[in-house]
Amino acid sequence: MDGWNELDRRTRELSDLRGAFELLSWDQETQLPPKGVAARGRQRAALEGVLHERLVDPRLFELLLRFQGERGLSPERAAWVRVLHRQAERARRTPDRLVRELALATSEAVEAWRLARAEGRFAPFEAPLARVLELRREQADALGHGGTRYDALLDVYEPGATLASIGPIFARLVPELQRLAGAIAETRPEPLRPFVGRRFDLARQWDLSLTLLRAIGFDLQAGRLDRSTHPFTMRSHATDVRVTNRFREDDPLPGIFGALHEGGHGLYEQGFAPSIHGTPLAEACSFGLHESQSRLWENLVGRSLPFWRAFFPELRRLFPESLQGLDVERFWRAVNEVRPTHVRVEADEVTYNLHIALRLRIEQALISGELPLAELPSAWNEASREILGLVPPDDSLGVLQDIHWAWGDLGYFPTYTIGNLYSVILARAAERELPNLWRDVERGELSPLRDWLRRKIHARGRLEEAEATVRAAAGEGLSEGPFVDYLWRKYGELYGVRR
Ligand SMILES: [Zn+2]
Repeated sequence: MDGWNELDRRTRELSDLRGAFELLSWDQETQLPPKGVAARGRQRAALEGVLHERLVDPRLFELLLRFQGERGLSPERAAWVRVLHRQAERARRTPDRLVRELALATSEAVEAWRLARAEGRFAPFEAPLARVLELRREQADALGHGGTRYDALLDVYEPGATLASIGPIFARLVPELQRLAGAIAETRPEPLRPFVGRRFDLARQWDLSLTLLRAIGFDLQAGRLDRSTHPFTMRSHATDVRVTNRFREDDPLPGIFGALHEGGHGLYEQGFAPSIHGTPLAEACSFGLHESQSRLWENLVGRSLPFWRAFFPELRRLFPESLQGLDVERFWRAVNEVRPTHVRVEADEVTYNLHIALRLRIEQALISGELPLAELPSAWNEASREILGLVPPDDSLGVLQDIHWAWGDLGYFPTYTIGNLYSVILARAAERELPNLWRDVERGELSPLRDWLRRKIHARGRLEEAEATVRAAAGEGLSEGPFVDYLWRKYGELYGVRR
């Protein structure tokens, strides 16, 4: 096909440049000596500039337009053209000036956010955040939307999703979660503090992370584990996927669930079919679908009783003294404790999505301009009281707790809930197709589930959008029903409450 070889060559070069860029970013978070920060900033900006130039190259666009109308393309090639065209089109619509101004505004906002959070007051963050908001609104208009700027931003992270599609899901989900959290609170559960005063050797926690990564099928010959302040997953290529984790000496749970969460992301990145490596299809469909993979391993598997029947003996072998008096059932209860908290990242499965509903309401009002920035802290506290039933004692535990808005990530938070909902929809489909699933998990045999996900989700990459991919795998698209059923079943048993 005339011109396809050139498109192929240009595409693979873009993919290699991106892989190099990712590696520089990973290195910055895990290895970079402090004096290297400024030089690394320039290196990343330079490479980003090259990437942008290649992506907006008129010749690339011409080729994409030619093949967009081509009838004889295979489904893989048609998807390739669709995905790359979307990327090129978005890059072309965002002026260079806006990219540079956003980079500057967000780095200033991050600095101001750190200061504001340390001081526990919003004021120092207000002006820098106002600038970020202004630029993101401008970007939303440049990208284009059907009248709702928020949709253009949401679409960056979750292609195809709109406020009209996710709004009603949140509207049904929130009262269900409040009802369940309320029923649990009425039982007045005693707080479980199984690890108070105990120590968990950090080297052994590191070994445990590796054991868990291997158990879920993460390939350590095509990936590695490192430490960072905030766990994350990076792919330079599907054959080089790096996850990070962090550990606390007085509590093994962040390390355990960090490994399962990032490992779940890592499996997705390692799982693209070799036939699509180096193409625009070797990418997750959306942030929401990505999060569904981490949540599935972290929560559906990692907080289940069968999983701990298999792995609690290993835990006891590693920490015999610190786990004295704890059996598998009590440990399982401890990792599923429901307790409302001000802080999203500490939230349990039941209340987590209430934190997201709160953020969705606020950021939507910020982007539309309905909510003036000066009123943000009081609006946050009011929404927190209404949705979570808690009023934060100060802004650090309230509106300043997340870094996302300083980064400019508005429209991102809903993907966490989308991921949670998809994780249950997919786990249910896997249960139907793998009748021995939980018996296998109980024996520590996790590969049938991993292989199912690989086949149904990972290998396909971006051949279709997220919702179509899930529909093909599970026979249903995004909704809150399965998630709500799952929570009532699980927490009904744990807390003795009924729907
Ligand atoms: Zn995640």
